[in-house]
Amino acid sequence: MCGACGRAQQGFYDRSLRRVRDLSCGGLRILLAIEVRRLACRSCRAVKRERLDFLVDNPRYTKRFAFYVGKRCGSATIKDIADELELDWHTVKELEKQYMRERLRRAGTPGPKVIGIDEISIRQGHTYRIVVSELIRRRPIWFGGADRSEASMDEFFKGLGARKSAGIRLAVMDMWKPFRNSTQRNAAQASVLFDKFHVVRHLGDALDKVRKAEYARLSGSGGCHRPP
Ligand SMILES: [Zn+2]
Repeated sequence: MCGACGRAQQGFYDRSLRRVRDLSCGGLRILLAIEVRRLACRSCRAVKRERLDFLVDNPRYTKRFAFYVGKRCGSATIKDIADELELDWHTVKELEKQYMRERLRRAGTPGPKVIGIDEISIRQGHTYRIVVSELIRRRPIWFGGADRSEASMDEFFKGLGARKSAGIRLAVMDMWKPFRNSTQRNAAQASVLFDKFHVVRHLGDALDKVRKAEYARLSGSGGCHRPP
C-alpha cells in the first residue's frame, strides 16, 4: 500500500533492508532490521515507500519509540534526551513534533458552541441544501442534506456525534419547523434563536462561496453552457 496516498496495488518496485530504532531494552539500543518495499504508485505516478503502520513519518523510527521520546520531552530537555538515547538534537525535536501531532489528532477538534442553520437553493431554486456555520469563527462547517427536511438536518447532528451535539449552546435559524424539530431532538440543551436576518447576514460571503462551488460542481468541469 502506498505510503503517500494509501492506494493498494500488487507487486513492488524494489526492496531494501532498513535499520529501524525501537524502544531500548535493558539499557541496550535496539535496532530492528526491516525489509522495506517501494512501489511504483499509479495514483502518485511516482515510486513511493509502502505504508508501514508501526513506523513514524521518518521511517528510521518505530511509533512506540517516537512516543517514548515525545513523552519524555514533557519532563526533560531535548538535549538531555538526545544524550540519553544517543540521538541528535534535531531528531528528538522532530520526533516530539510527530508525537504532538498525533496527540492533537486523537483529541479531535472542539465542537461548535454557536451554530447558524441556513438553507440555500441551487439549480434555479428547485433544490435545497443545508449549510451549518460556526458563528463564533464565522465559517461554514457543514454542507449537505438532500433537501431542507428534518431528516436532512438530522444528518448534520449524526455526523457531529452525540457528544459534540450536546455541547451546542445556541442555534440560530429562520422559522423553518424541520430545522427546529431536528435541533430540539438532537441538541435539546441548545437555545434556539429565530433571527436569520440579523445574525446570519454576515455569513453571506461564506454562503456565496459554497453556492458557487456547488454550481461549478453541478454544471460539470467545463462550466460553460453550450446551446443545443
Ligand atoms: Zn500513491
